Amino acid sequence: MQKIQNFINGKLVAPVSGSYIDNYNPAEGKVYSLIPDSDEQDVKNAVDAAKSAFPIWSKMPVDERSKILQKIADLIDENLDRLAMAESVDNGKPVALAKAVDIPRSSSNMRFFATAILHFSSEAHKMDNVAINYTNREPIGVAGCISPWNLPLYLFTWKIAPALAAGNCVVAKPSEITPMTAYLFSELCINAGLPKGVLNIIHGLGAKAGQAIIEHQDIPLISFTGGTATGKHIAATAAPMFKKLSLELGGKNPNIIFADCDFDQALKTSVLSSFSNQGQICLCGSRILVERSIYTKFVDAFVAKVKALKIGDPLDGLTKIGAIVSEDHMKKILSYIELAKKEGGQIITGGKQVQMEERCTNGYFIEPTVITGLGHDCRINQEEIFGPVVTIMPFDKQEEAIEYANGTAYGLSTTVWTENLKRAHNIANELKSGIVWINCWMVRDLRTPFGGMKQSGVGREGGNEALRFFTETKNVCIKL
Ligand code: NAD
Repeated sequence: MQKIQNFINGKLVAPVSGSYIDNYNPAEGKVYSLIPDSDEQDVKNAVDAAKSAFPIWSKMPVDERSKILQKIADLIDENLDRLAMAESVDNGKPVALAKAVDIPRSSSNMRFFATAILHFSSEAHKMDNVAINYTNREPIGVAGCISPWNLPLYLFTWKIAPALAAGNCVVAKPSEITPMTAYLFSELCINAGLPKGVLNIIHGLGAKAGQAIIEHQDIPLISFTGGTATGKHIAATAAPMFKKLSLELGGKNPNIIFADCDFDQALKTSVLSSFSNQGQICLCGSRILVERSIYTKFVDAFVAKVKALKIGDPLDGLTKIGAIVSEDHMKKILSYIELAKKEGGQIITGGKQVQMEERCTNGYFIEPTVITGLGHDCRINQEEIFGPVVTIMPFDKQEEAIEYANGTAYGLSTTVWTENLKRAHNIANELKSGIVWINCWMVRDLRTPFGGMKQSGVGREGGNEALRFFTETKNVCIKL
């Protein structure tokens, strides 16, 4: 059986303990490879390698650094089919989705930050006849980057690209649930000529390998994407050590549909924003709020479209709904569907585990599920389910829609459907949400700030926000 290896000091190496954990193919419900069960010692080796590489990498002329990172982007493109297949097998997502979104976005992340750093400038502030200030932005040292399983290579590169472009060295940990593409990525880094120790990838459990990263005294900054509870724990551990923190956490995103919307566009995109990647995208709109005058029309048309979605083998190019990432996660989603019934919800389509055939007989599949009849403050509408489950609720007035939209502990993204420009601006102003999409969803310009309010996170990724996070400012003041 294939053994994934850690990537430390430019080499693929076994964990010091020699222990491995099982890695599942969720479409088959079967172990198909082994992951290093790394511990403190592996993390120490990775940090030592990163510290040794830092003086060379941080002082390398920026255009040379940029060329190496662009080479990695080119290699991702050249390996598109192989990486998309690996992502689909590891995660359960449709291979067509991995090929159209995950892998192209991973190379875009690398290329975007490899070139952004060429344009990253310092500021100067002149005090007339007194002094001149210039503000340098310097790489910090060894960055810890920890990513989740839902968009494995996509979110892994979204962190390490700005960290490396800014001149830091990195100790990164992908999710233990989906480690494969990060492992293949380490091979691409070797082929691209990334100097040894600049990027180190440690595989293993969050509570062991991840914990060793956040506790390490020589890692002064942590960029984390994952669940809110994990983020809270990381903040509690890292804050007393005065580490710089970026936390991208959970969401319970509203999708607000006004009667004056472009109905067909709102309908088509709402199916995507509800069920893409089996609803396992932090930006999925899991609470659909519909103005009462079109509520019945919308529910009927939405359910008809959802029923037509093909649930199938992720490797079948026609599949729209693939496997849930793990058995544990499938059980969690199913338990929320049971809770919805107890809370008085009506399951108007879906609601059950799907028994597949042949290769996928033991896989983890759930029907796309639509629930109505619930109030906005019940647990189903307050807690993140992170699966193919949405609720639809009617509203009468704009103020009511805003109150429901803002009425959770989260504040990651909101989508609004209206053809009324004035309403669009007004409502965008009122929403407590880091990202507001008007008449679209998941349209991403990598220069824009990305992140959430309230319990959806602290800090922003993307563009200059990310480059600022991965650098430390120093102001130099010269008397004139
Ligand atoms: P998770 O919090 O369980 O794990 C995320 C990562 O943290 C994994 O690599 C895990 O091994 C590691 N980890 C766990 N415990 C740790 C510890 N004590 N110390 C250090 N690292 C630790 O999250 P998940 O289940 O992998 O991902 C799903 C969650 O991620 C959802 O809540 C989703 O909303 C969120 N998410 C947020 C964004 C965003 O940009 N805001 C994007 C994608 C996913």
